[in-house]
Amino acid sequence: MKLATASQMKELDRQAIEERGIPSIDLMERAAEGVARAALDLLPQRPGRCRGAALCGAGNNGGDGIAAARLLFLKGLKIRAFLVGDYEKLTPDALEETRRLSECGVELERFDPADASQRAWVLGCDVVIDAVFGVGLSRPIAAGSPFAAAVDWMNESRAAVVAADIASGVAADTGDVLGRAVRADRTVTFTLPKIGQAVGEGAVLSGDVEVRDIGIPADLVRGLACRAQTVERDFVRTALPPRKIDGHKGTFGKVLIVGGAVGYTGAPWLTAAAAARSGCGLVFLGVPEAIWPVEAAKCVSAMPFPLPDKHGKLSPKAKEEILKRAAGCDAVALGPGLGRGDGVTELVLELLREIRQPVVLDADGINALAGHMDVLDARQDRVTVLTPHDGEFARIGGDLSAGDRLGAARAFTEAHGCVLVLKGHRTITAVPSGNALVNTTGNSGLAKGGSGDVLTGVIASLLAQGASPVQAAAGGVWLHGRAGDLAAERLTAYGMTPEDVVSALPAAIGEVQ
Ligand code: ADP
Ligand code: ADP
Ligand code: MG
Repeated sequence: MKLATASQMKELDRQAIEERGIPSIDLMERAAEGVARAALDLLPQRPGRCRGAALCGAGNNGGDGIAAARLLFLKGLKIRAFLVGDYEKLTPDALEETRRLSECGVELERFDPADASQRAWVLGCDVVIDAVFGVGLSRPIAAGSPFAAAVDWMNESRAAVVAADIASGVAADTGDVLGRAVRADRTVTFTLPKIGQAVGEGAVLSGDVEVRDIGIPADLVRGLACRAQTVERDFVRTALPPRKIDGHKGTFGKVLIVGGAVGYTGAPWLTAAAAARSGCGLVFLGVPEAIWPVEAAKCVSAMPFPLPDKHGKLSPKAKEEILKRAAGCDAVALGPGLGRGDGVTELVLELLREIRQPVVLDADGINALAGHMDVLDARQDRVTVLTPHDGEFARIGGDLSAGDRLGAARAFTEAHGCVLVLKGHRTITAVPSGNALVNTTGNSGLAKGGSGDVLTGVIASLLAQGASPVQAAAGGVWLHGRAGDLAAERLTAYGMTPEDVVSALPAAIGEVQ
C-alpha cells in the first residue's frame, strides 16, 4: 500500500476540487461519515446510553470533527463539540458544518482549558473525536496552549479516541511527535495512509488505522507516485524464487556465514539455521576455531568449518580461507557474534573490499565499518545489504535525531549506495533509488537477543537464491516478522525465542508461496 505525504494529500484534494469540480463540503461530509462510523463501532453500548465529545480545530480537520459530531448526535449520542481555537479562523467549510450542527440544536462550544466542567465531560465520556490538527500540522504544539490542554485531556480520558485523518501532534511525513500528540485507539485516515502512521512513534500513536475512501477520483489516487510503501504479500511472493522441479542443491544457491566468537556461539548458529529454513541449497558457516566444536555439534543442516582465531575471535589471518569460500558461494552474511576488536575490524574491512558476492552486513560487521565508510562506498559496484538496529545505525553515521526514521534511512542509502534495513518496530528497507518499504509484520516477542541474527540468515538465503536486493531485504524482513507473529500465536510474545522464529519460517513462507 502506498504511503502518502501531507503535500501529496493536499495536491489530491486540490485536483479533486478544482479540476474535477467535487464540492469540498461533500468530501468533508464523507470524511465525517467514516469518523462517526468508527466512533459508533467503539461504543460500549447503544448510542443513546453513551456520551461523546469532539475536539475540533478551526481548519478543515476541525470541520470533519464538527460534521462527525452532528452525525453522532443524530444517532442518539449525547455529544458536545468544542472548538479549540478561534471562531474567526473557521474555514468556510468548517463554518458551514458549524451551522449544520447548530441547526440540530448543538452549539459549537469554545474550548476552555480552565473550565472544569468541560474537562470532566471529556474525561468521563465514552468516545472522543480528535479533530484538532490534521496532516497540515507543521509546528510543535506549544506547551501551555489550549491545543496542548486538548491533547492532554484526550490522553487522560477513559474514552476511546478516534482520530480524524491523523492523531493530532503526529507529523504526517515522519511519524515524529511535534511537541505532544494524541494517543488514538483508531485513526480514520482519508484516501491513503500517511507515512507518519506507518513509522516511528506515529505508528504506535495512530492505533488501528482505517483507510476511508472519501470520493477523491480513483484515477488521481492511482496516478500518485509514492516513494514509500508498505510491504505486501504479493511483493514478498516475488522475493521467493520458484523451485525448479529438477533442481539440485547447487541450483538453489550457496550461503557463506562468517561470525561467532567465544561468548557468542548462538548468533552464527541462528543465522545458519534461518538460512537453511529459507530455501537455499547449501549453508557454510565459518567460525573461530575456538568455538568450532560447539557449532559442529549443533549444526546439522549447515556445514561449520574452523577459521584462524586470536583470543577467541576471528583473526585477520582468516581472510584467505574466507575469500576462497566466498568465491564459491552466491551470498555472504558477515557479522553475527563476531565481537569487536582491532583484528575483527581489520578482517571485516578487508573482506568488504575483496568479496565480489552480495554481502549482508550485520551486528559487529556493521560496528567494524564505523569510521571507515569509504570501504562501504567503494562497494557501490556490488550488492551490500546493511541490517543495523538504531544503535548500530548511529555508529555508522545514521542520524535519527530529527525523529524521521524514513528520511534518515533514505539519506543513508542515497549517500552510500547500499540497501539499508533499519530494524525495530516497523523496520524500514531503503534503496538508493530513494524508494522505501515499511514492514508491518512482527511483534515485541522479537525484541530478544538473537532475533536479528535470524533475519540476516533469511536475507542471505533469499539473495543466494537469486532474489533482487530489495526483494531479499524487504521480503526477508516481512517473512521474519510473520514467522515471529506465528511463533507468538503459539507461544506468546513472552515465551517465544529466536529459535522458535526459525522454526516458524516455513509456515510464514507457506503463506505467500
Ligand atoms: P530497485 O533498486 O530494484 O530499483 P526499487 O525500490 O526502485 O528498487 O523498486 C523495487 C520494485 O518493487 C519497484 O518496481 C516497486 O514498484 C516494487 N515494489 C516496491 N514495493 C512494493 C510493494 N509493497 N508491493 C508491490 N510492489 C512493490
Ligand atoms: P540481535 O542482534 O540480538 O539479534 P537485533 O536488534 O539485531 O537483535 O534485531 C532484533 C530484531 O527484532 C529486528 O529484526 C527487529 O526489527 C525485531 N524487533 C525488535 N523489536 C521489535 C518490536 N517491538 N516489534 C517488531 N519487531 C521488533
Ligand atoms: Mg543484531
